[in-house]
Amino acid sequence: MRKVAFITGASRLKGIGASTAFLFAKNNYDIIITGTKRDQKSFPKYEKDINWTGVNSLAKKLEKFDIEVLPIELDISNENEVESAFSIIIEKFNRIDVLVNNASTGIGEDRVPVINLDNKEFMKVIKVKLFGAFYITKLVSRYMVDSKIEGSIINISSTAGKSGNANMAAYNAANFGLEGFSQALAMELASRNIRVNCVAPGPIRTSRLDKLSKKNLQKLKNTIPLKRIGEDFEVADLIYFLASNKSKYISGQSININGGIITER
Ligand code: NDP
Repeated sequence: MRKVAFITGASRLKGIGASTAFLFAKNNYDIIITGTKRDQKSFPKYEKDINWTGVNSLAKKLEKFDIEVLPIELDISNENEVESAFSIIIEKFNRIDVLVNNASTGIGEDRVPVINLDNKEFMKVIKVKLFGAFYITKLVSRYMVDSKIEGSIINISSTAGKSGNANMAAYNAANFGLEGFSQALAMELASRNIRVNCVAPGPIRTSRLDKLSKKNLQKLKNTIPLKRIGEDFEVADLIYFLASNKSKYISGQSININGGIITER
């Protein structure tokens, strides 16, 4: 029986989620991918130019690996949608070996000082990245325990989950929260041999960096010790390692992949 990997936020060709889905597919996993329901026309102004593919067309590209792919459109911050999606997944595969909580809001209208931060924007960021991961992980980890699957859960946080930054309070809070959540869950699931880890990327060349001007991109590179932006496939390699048996003694950790930036934790 093929193993099954469930990757949230895999709807953009230039993205950590899509790159991870391709790597698992290449390695003969069946794949579940999620993205939101919207089409490109409905994107907020600040996200207009992203390299959006949508889960359905990404699924077609993954099928060439001769595996089963289930694309799901949902809002992961909505617990009812998550519960319905989970039922569909179990009905189709009745198995989940790997969960990658990757979905997140992009660089949006929350990137302002706290004194100007709209309450709804703050909640949106937290609800997608933290509540979304919680809703899905609760169902998946319960399923892994009940089915005695010694799975791997990988939560994608960020350098912003290790140190605070001006104008990023909501994103910082969501990522710090995800880090704490992951540590607690790792302690709870260790006796079942289910491993939980975080991957904390620094700047990675995905759609989220598309709107930076050349000048700002160069400025960003200068803050990175290795003097370059990371690639989505480099993060995918780390995720795959954390899902594999090669990392079977690693749990409760948060692994930086950030070009050498030293973080507080
Ligand atoms: P993108 O920002 O390119 O894509 C985000 C994904 O999340 C998309 O598939 C998007 O779907 C999905 N998503 C957004 N909102 C929701 C929602 N409400 N419900 C379901 N899905 C949703 O991702 P990246 O590849 O850049 O980043 C992936 C992860 O890595 C994120 O968790 C991010 O925080 C983290 N990270 C990325 C860094 C980077 O420089 N790229 C740096 C540090 C951390 P849709 O396309 O339909 O909107």
